[in-house]
Amino acid sequence: AVVTRFAPSPTGYLHIGGARTALFNWLYARGRGGKFLLRIEDTDRARSTPEATQAILNGMAWLGLDHDGEAVSQFEGAARHADVAHQMLAQGDAYKCFATQDEIAAFREAAKAAGTSTLYRSPWRDTPAADHPDAPFVVRLKAPQDGATVINDEVQGTVTWQNDQLDDMVLLRSDGTPVYMLAVVVDDHDMGVTHVIRGDDHLANAARQSLIYRAMGWDLPTYAHIPLIHGPDGKKLSKRHGALGVEEYQAMGYPAAGMRNYLARLGWSHGDDEFFTDAQAVEWFGTDGIGKSPARLDFKKLENICGQHIAVAEDAALLHELHGYLTSIDVAPLTDAQNKLMLAAMPVLKERAKTFGELVEKAYFILGERPFTPDEKAAKNLDDVSRGILSELTPQLQTVSWDRDTLFDAVTQAAESHGMKMGKLAGPLRAALAGRSVTPSVFDMMLVIGREETCARLKDAAA
Ligand code: GLU
Repeated sequence: AVVTRFAPSPTGYLHIGGARTALFNWLYARGRGGKFLLRIEDTDRARSTPEATQAILNGMAWLGLDHDGEAVSQFEGAARHADVAHQMLAQGDAYKCFATQDEIAAFREAAKAAGTSTLYRSPWRDTPAADHPDAPFVVRLKAPQDGATVINDEVQGTVTWQNDQLDDMVLLRSDGTPVYMLAVVVDDHDMGVTHVIRGDDHLANAARQSLIYRAMGWDLPTYAHIPLIHGPDGKKLSKRHGALGVEEYQAMGYPAAGMRNYLARLGWSHGDDEFFTDAQAVEWFGTDGIGKSPARLDFKKLENICGQHIAVAEDAALLHELHGYLTSIDVAPLTDAQNKLMLAAMPVLKERAKTFGELVEKAYFILGERPFTPDEKAAKNLDDVSRGILSELTPQLQTVSWDRDTLFDAVTQAAESHGMKMGKLAGPLRAALAGRSVTPSVFDMMLVIGREETCARLKDAAA
């Protein structure tokens, strides 16, 4: 069975590249009845923080990327990682190296001066154990020095490293602690990981990691090293470009489904499909659709896709997600009355809103503070003539049947009796009903807020 994993280092927020890596692994597993595991790579004690772990968990929760089983802490496996190094030592696949930092630095200096390879070759590689001093040592992998190491990568194809270019990497530091490269291999093996999908900045690591697999007689996972995400200008992604924590994307008002859809498309494709559901993504996703060149972050595309997801989302689900958005931007929760109106208005609000921010803007007639202070344009629309018409209209609205056609007729008549086109009255009505000049249709607003509230607002405006 397929087992994938996401293995973030908790040294900062879950950025968009990490989120995409998590998503790809999640899609791959979910589409194959497999498992998707989460391992927190917290071995760098100085840089790992519980806050960062929490931010990663929050980001994944927001994106709906549920993992199977408990999140695993890599640091907690340190004893097991060290055991494996000792086993390799016992097998002769690793050796104790007593070289000091100074000796290694001196070696490099000399090699540089002589114009020879600066790849460190430890004199201890072939020293019999009996000749070992009683001194601190690191444990190094006894890497092959001839031939080549080959990684068959699902995305990058066959990649070859000449072994004379690989040094004997350190497995255990002189204090006996395991290095990260060892921990990754042991954990992936012990967790039964079958597929490793990660950024192509780890491609060279795969070559070195494969040597540990070979020494231990373990099966290599299938690798897929994905190109990193670039900014709109094709350069390395920076903060300015949107290399932000995913929680900031939530605060920018993007719905999670749209984010998933867009992130899936960022470096992966399925024909010309741009907009798709989670179920389709799960069904379609595979490493064969992953591109070889870096994808570019494109906010226009993101917004476009998000708008489509908002448009097709269920009203109640959208309202629920809106609450999460409001919390993320520190806005107080909606009242019960507002929730009721929002739900009623949702079919109108979700039309053409690309973000929750735009949706909230359209909902100003529900969420805005009453009485409205009309904005500049709205105030201009409320001139004396139109105020007069509104005050004539109000008593009629008290008795008419409250449906779209009747309301349309009532407003048309009120306008025409003053020689005005119905459309001319829309501005004053918007101003009265929402204090703004850009709103949903006046009839939609009237139907949502109801007779009593409509009349109260018209009265306020006409006063
Ligand atoms: N912890 C590594 C990172 O955050 C990922 C290692 C891996 O996926 O093998 O870049």
